[in-house]
Amino acid sequence: MAPASPSSVKRRCRRCLYWIPVLFISIIVCWSYYAYVIQLCIVSMENIGEKVLCLLAYHFFVLLFVWSYWKTIFTSPMNPTKEFHLSYADKELIEREPRGESQQEVLRRLAKDLPVYTRTMSGAIRYCDRCQLVKPDRCHHCSVCDKCILKMDHHCPWVNNCVGFSNYKFFLLFLAYSLLYCLFIVATDLQYFIKFWTMTLELSAVGNETQSNVHHNRTQITQELSTVDSKMQSSVQHNETQNGLPDTQAKFHIMFLFFAAAMFSVSLSSLFGYHCWLVCKNRSTLEAFRAPVFRHGTDKNGFSLGFSKNLRQIFGDEKKFWLLPVFTSQGDGCSFPTCLVNQDPEQVSTPTGANLTAKSIENHPFPSKPLRESQSHLLTDSQSWTESNGNSEKGTLGMSNPGLAIENET
Ligand SMILES: [Zn+2]
Ligand SMILES: [Zn+2]
Repeated sequence: MAPASPSSVKRRCRRCLYWIPVLFISIIVCWSYYAYVIQLCIVSMENIGEKVLCLLAYHFFVLLFVWSYWKTIFTSPMNPTKEFHLSYADKELIEREPRGESQQEVLRRLAKDLPVYTRTMSGAIRYCDRCQLVKPDRCHHCSVCDKCILKMDHHCPWVNNCVGFSNYKFFLLFLAYSLLYCLFIVATDLQYFIKFWTMTLELSAVGNETQSNVHHNRTQITQELSTVDSKMQSSVQHNETQNGLPDTQAKFHIMFLFFAAAMFSVSLSSLFGYHCWLVCKNRSTLEAFRAPVFRHGTDKNGFSLGFSKNLRQIFGDEKKFWLLPVFTSQGDGCSFPTCLVNQDPEQVSTPTGANLTAKSIENHPFPSKPLRESQSHLLTDSQSWTESNGNSEKGTLGMSNPGLAIENET
């Protein structure tokens, strides 16, 4: 067996390092489980009803949180289908003349039969040099995964995975459930956290009283100290029985659990709020930073179909599955309905759109498989990708963009 080359060893080491943030989160979750279940519920809570209720609710939140986190990490991002890849002959042609007219010809020919409506900033068809394929709409090349990812949102180090079409719903649920998990801990831990500080302040007050008395009357020091000692002991006992914080170990865990949960709640709520806004607008994080370019120009709302349809694109039609980390997103990830039929001067619209849609689907070689019901909804009651592009594809694609160039995205 040949020894591994230095570059492959380096790559493997890098892959291991990518797991460190996931390991960090996992350790924090495991510790929070120990701190909440053992130290707070079992050791510190005295009321049986409160204990049972907190344990049940906690396990409900932690189950959904870990489930959605797991699915976000281990759901492989989807890559463009073989229709978008160049054939062996086309690859040879492009390799022979990487920047020549033949390359433009190949891309034009390929894109003509594909539902590709977005372009590069210069108006060229989007092409990935590394994967040697025409990029579907909303697809981007991830430099970490070294692959083209369908509807790429971003590469998330906290899940060591690309967040894209296949796992965006899981990522959203992961944010939602981790936020709920943290808020639940903050809400139920708060009273114990306050009691801890109250007890600390009381002890501190007793200690100050001691020092003052000793300073004024040194002859009574022994007597004072013994009085104070008994005061402190009784204070501790009083607090322990009253507050339910019987030992310092529990106090330490309860205090840090509260701090950690509060800290994560703040950062998660801003991230979750931002992604809710993106879902409402039907934008990926990348599209929020750089708006997609269509034939008629840049349009940040090009994929937005209205709040309800935008929501259904991610979560699907069946509401009973919305809150579960199971895949229910609409579409195939390669093509997306747009709302641009009335804005694109190259696109022809009909009063109803129905005939045009049917005709376009009939004439279009993509997708080869029948459209799902969820897609049909979008196609019949809104301007779809087939409708918005079917006509213009025939005569204008490629021709209207003489400066066809290669887009390199890493
Ligand atoms: Zn690529
Ligand atoms: Zn990636």
